[in-house]
Parts: sequence; structure tokens; C-alpha cells
Amino acid sequence: MKRIALLGATGSIGKNCLDVIRRLRSQFRVVTMTTNNNTEILAEQAEEFRPTLCAVMDPHKVDDLQDRLSERKIQIRTGPEGLLEAATHPDTDLVVNALVGAVGLIPTIRAIEAGKDVALANKESLVMAGEFIMNLAQEKKVQIIPVDSEHSGIMQCLHGNRREDVARIILTASGGPFFNRRAEEFQSITPQQALEHPTWNMGPKITVDSATLMNKGLEVIEAHWLFGVPISHIEVTIHKQSIIHSLVEFTDGSILAQIGPTDMRLPIQIALTFPERMESPYPRVRFEQTRMLTFEKPDHEKFPCLRLAYKAAQDGGTTPAVLNAANEIAVQAFLENRISFEKIPSLIEETTTRHVRADRPSLNEILTADRWARGYVMKQLP
Ligand code: MG
Repeated sequence: MKRIALLGATGSIGKNCLDVIRRLRSQFRVVTMTTNNNTEILAEQAEEFRPTLCAVMDPHKVDDLQDRLSERKIQIRTGPEGLLEAATHPDTDLVVNALVGAVGLIPTIRAIEAGKDVALANKESLVMAGEFIMNLAQEKKVQIIPVDSEHSGIMQCLHGNRREDVARIILTASGGPFFNRRAEEFQSITPQQALEHPTWNMGPKITVDSATLMNKGLEVIEAHWLFGVPISHIEVTIHKQSIIHSLVEFTDGSILAQIGPTDMRLPIQIALTFPERMESPYPRVRFEQTRMLTFEKPDHEKFPCLRLAYKAAQDGGTTPAVLNAANEIAVQAFLENRISFEKIPSLIEETTTRHVRADRPSLNEILTADRWARGYVMKQLP
């Protein structure tokens, strides 16, 4: 029986994770669960899964959660301390980090320090502090298992192969809703349009990131740290069908691809059971219905976020953390109709250009850079 801490239970990944566990009740027990502020859903989930501890980040919602769960013997916590208590609870083996954004970083680090394996859906942790996290994981002998579908695919392709035999990682991208739209029309893109993703059903932040291709840029950095492959050996290809989740080319020219349905429950289940596999009822790929698998080069001019992410990754140090922070604030401002879609990359570029980078940064330097970038972008907003 694997005992789970689920951080971000009420988001898209959190709900899918509980759906996986619902079918595999004999294998997993959810010990802690957290939400940012969605106490209604968290209380329902807690009624079903009966965790030991529930935490809500927003301190204004803690009384509401207490009321909703008053009949149950469940410990209730709040604030960042509550989140960290959930992430390091002594009765857990595996922390599923499904938090969105930079808020996921410290829980990842504390979980590793506490000796927990981490199933990581929070790619921002690795974008901000990849070197720090991977070194810490090695020191503490814990596993970082990717939940991101592309990285789950790469992990599966690499399994049983030697890392030194890897020539190239090819990350697939759906291209998002605007891949075929003309650059001149980008000015008029609305948040509603950006939230309509062609193949994946996800939360708002990552859906906008997919539309700008920043999501793929963050995934390049994530792959670099997870698999120890140089940035120059990681490529992106636009594969609209989202059936191949990524590919690994080896030094002899052989390429392995991982193929599966576009359903996040599959990579989540693999992260929970890896390296074993369990049966699943999820939709199967029917090649006859797909007919065609296509691959195209991404346009770095039309989608500057991808270029900016590669540049930040090459620069290294604190720059990827700044890229990530600037992106989070810019995406939020776009979702609030305060800036245009096109303004997202230009704000990020301005911020990363202004940033004075620290190399081989300490955690403190990373957090300082993150705060600086947020403040800088806020000041540029209308
Ligand atoms: Mg992904």
C-alpha cells in the first residue's frame, strides 16, 4: 500500500489523480490533501477518501473547511505551513505535487528533504531550481517521477537504456489553438479563445502557456534537469494529434516513441505505479481512426515564448526562475483582460533582459530573483 500526499487535489491533475486512485483503492491510500481555496470540492473529496489531514492555503477559507468536515476526524491546516505539513507528513511515501506555479517549489524541496519520492506535475519547481532539486534528490536517494505526459513518455523510453546512449530528446507539442493563425491576428486573441485547447483539457494557466508555447519552453528546461540531457540536444516538434507524447533518439540512430491516448490519467497512473504497470480502462489509441501523424517545426518568431525559454535555459543561473515568474504574472494579467496576448512574450523578454543573473544560485537567490521579476512585471502593467 503506497501512502499518498496530494498537493493541489482540487485542480485538474489533482482530480484526475483521485480518479486513478478511486480504481486502485487496494494499492493506494490518500493521507493528506490540499487546495488553494476550493473548500467545497476538497470537503467532498475528503468525505470520499478519508485522509488524515486536509490543508487549505487561503486562511480565510479554513473555518469553512472546518465546518464542512466537522463530522469527520480529519486534521485541518491552513497557510503555507499547512501545505508543508501535508507535503512532509510522516505517514506518506509519495508526494504528488499538482500545484500550479512557483508556489510548488518549496513543497517539492521539503518533501525531498523529508525523504519522500515525488510525482511531479509542478514543472515550475524544476524550471526555477532544477539543479538544486536534482542534487538534493540524489543526496536523499529519492525519486523524482514526472507526471507531465511528455516527460512520462521520455521516462518510459529511457527505462532500461543507458543515459550516455541518448543523442536527442524530441518533445512533442500540440501547437495549441493558434498554431495556424496568422501573426497579424494575434493582437485580437481573447482569454476565452486561448482557453480552448484542441487536444488536452487542463487548468487555465497551463492552457494559456500551451497557446503561447511557453508550456513547451518550460518542458524543455524540465526535461534538461530530469534526464540530464543538454539543452542543445532537446528539440520540439509540433505534433497536432498529441498521440506520440515524446521521443528519444539514441546514438545509433534508433528512436523510441511513447504513444498513448490524450488522457492525463495514464501518465498519472504510471507515475504512481512506476516501474510497474497496472491495468486501466482508459481509451485506447486506434490508429485507423487517427490515419495521419504529422510533425512540423515550431515558428519561434510567431511564438517568441519558446525562443525566450531556450535562451533562458542556455543562460542558466537565476534566469529560468525569472522567465517563469514573469510568465506567471503576464499570463494572469492576460486572463484578467489587462494585457493583450502579444504582450505576454514582450513583458517576459523585457524582464529577463533587465535581470542581473546569479550563476549556480542558492535557493535564496532563486527566490529573490522570482520576487524581483514579479515586482518588475507588475510595475509594467497598465
Ligand atoms: Mg506536458
